[in-house]
Amino acid sequence: MKTVCCACRRAKGSVGWKEEAVDHFMGITYGVCPDCYCIALEKIRANYATDRDCENMLIARRNESGGLGLAG
Ligand SMILES: [Zn+2]
Repeated sequence: MKTVCCACRRAKGSVGWKEEAVDHFMGITYGVCPDCYCIALEKIRANYATDRDCENMLIARRNESGGLGLAG
């Protein structure tokens, strides 16, 4: 089973992620390579939310769900 980055289509090998022909009949699974992961995080941070937004959302959710035993 080959892991292929769903964004840039490079395949994961023993020494990293490289462009390579993938035999789709052998079975592939999709993942995200480290480069695309960092780019995606950057875009999310720039366009959708700040770390502070995420922190606030998580606190609100915790409070809504009764604290899950985590509320102090
Ligand atoms: Zn990628």
